[in-house]
Amino acid sequence: MKYSEIIYSKAEAELKARRVRAEELAEMRRKQFAEKYPELIDIENIMKFSALEVIRSVGSGGKSVNISEVAKTNLEAQARKKELLVKNGYPADYLDVPYTCKKCNDSGIFNGKLCECHLALLQKLSVEGLSCSPILAKSTFDTFNLEYYSAIKDADLGFSHREIMGGVFGMLKNYAENFGPDSSSLFFSGGTGLGKTHLALAIFNVVTANGYSVYYSSARKVIKQLNNEHFGKGDTDLNEELSRNDLVIIDDLGAEFETPFGTAAINEIIDDAVLMGKPMILISNLDKTAFEERYGERVASRLNAFEIIQFFGTDIRQRNK
Ligand SMILES: [Zn+2]
Repeated sequence: MKYSEIIYSKAEAELKARRVRAEELAEMRRKQFAEKYPELIDIENIMKFSALEVIRSVGSGGKSVNISEVAKTNLEAQARKKELLVKNGYPADYLDVPYTCKKCNDSGIFNGKLCECHLALLQKLSVEGLSCSPILAKSTFDTFNLEYYSAIKDADLGFSHREIMGGVFGMLKNYAENFGPDSSSLFFSGGTGLGKTHLALAIFNVVTANGYSVYYSSARKVIKQLNNEHFGKGDTDLNEELSRNDLVIIDDLGAEFETPFGTAAINEIIDDAVLMGKPMILISNLDKTAFEERYGERVASRLNAFEIIQFFGTDIRQRNK
């Protein structure tokens, strides 16, 4: 199957994020372990030295050192390392880099071909649909046009909508470029056609280009997915998807048909993301008060931790007619 460029680059970004995460975790574990058990450093030095010996020996045509001796030393050091781990109650592979895919070490290439994990990722990204959507590709910070917003000063606000939206634009661009696991959660509020989805997708594009993964869905789709999971249909696992991604974006909140299940589902997803400490972007035509009335007190208390981004202006789609 042929995939679009954007899917390839997203898969690439995801693989890179997996590698970086695994390597960082391994390095952190190694440091902590070596502090507690300095013997590890001796063992590592023996391993490093024997590897160098082999390289040197290859360079000199195999004459200078006894390869089998060096190999033996290296194997012994490896065994000592495992022993040190197990003896102290750690799994024997605790200090190995915990790559997601043991076949290709998250490089995406195995035996000169795309690894199974890479193919699965491409397929998953194309199924998610949004990733290959032309809307996503078009919705960047560069294509956001402030001229759609009125330059006339709003008497109540003391500023023009264009000035306010210029500020929102700058703040969100900064958010996207500096996004990390500790970034705050945002609540986009404002009427239809004011650019909320455009700027959320622009954030999506920047954040994924920087190697983070993003879960994006409309409220309607999230509810449908949870409904399917609830009744044992489909093989998705929303919780797993949330925990796997670095940023969670839920669009069109409040536009879905109101049902007790839907309200509970939205509560659940917001709760889960907050409990996991995931930065979230919630997007709604409702203002904060109407949103809280619709989804209840629990969501209201969660929203206290969100930065409220109020969008102003006249429906862009109306203006274009
Ligand atoms: Zn793989």
